[in-house]
Amino acid sequence: MKLAIMGGTFNPIHIGHLVCAEEAVSQFELDQVLFMPTGLPPHKEIRKGVSSGARFQMCMIATRDNPLFEVSRYEINREETSYTVDTIRHFRRQQPESDLYFISGADAILEILEWKDPDELLSMVMLIGATRPGYPLDRISGNLEKFLQAKKVKIMEIPGIGISSTMIRDRVSEGKSIRYLVPEGVRRFIYEEGLYRKA
Ligand code: ATP
Ligand code: MG
Repeated sequence: MKLAIMGGTFNPIHIGHLVCAEEAVSQFELDQVLFMPTGLPPHKEIRKGVSSGARFQMCMIATRDNPLFEVSRYEINREETSYTVDTIRHFRRQQPESDLYFISGADAILEILEWKDPDELLSMVMLIGATRPGYPLDRISGNLEKFLQAKKVKIMEIPGIGISSTMIRDRVSEGKSIRYLVPEGVRRFIYEEGLYRKA
């Protein structure tokens, strides 16, 4: 069993996340991708007014038609701040037979390696770093050299999607369309719940 975890705030989930996970499935022959919305991220303020439950729900809606995609409540259910290494340790213990992967975009790879215990993290998982427009890899590959050589990090080329959750939130608050930038069900959820509206 090849299990990948994709962490993020998913505020909201958008097609960049989904294309990234889908490419990882095909390029690494994964059996499952577990989307893991963060609880209280150590390095990022969650925008006020959007609950963990809403972020989780949007991930559920976005992944419901893909049998290989699941969403985990593990981090949002924990009281304390979640570090990726702690989450991976949990799944390592729970599924000792599985090969674990962690999927991240180019912008987040360096952050991950600056997180708590990168060496321990990379002893448990293969880190998949997806290309992302605006975050050229040559700028970071020097810092990744050691891990690339140890074959602990793999760079994954994906179709460039220049979309971020920040862009989606801004577009909603400015009254611009987000159709086709997020799955249709997610778009409806955002409007029905009145998320990201200008205060
Ligand atoms: P925000 O603008 O709020 O930071 P985001 O779009 O970066 O949102 P996150 O939830 O922060 O989304 O990201 C979760 C993971 O998905 C990260 O590893 C990030 O690098 C990756 N990711 C997000 N958008 C893309 C994209 N368009 N292409 C490739 N990877 C992406
Ligand atoms: Mg981000």
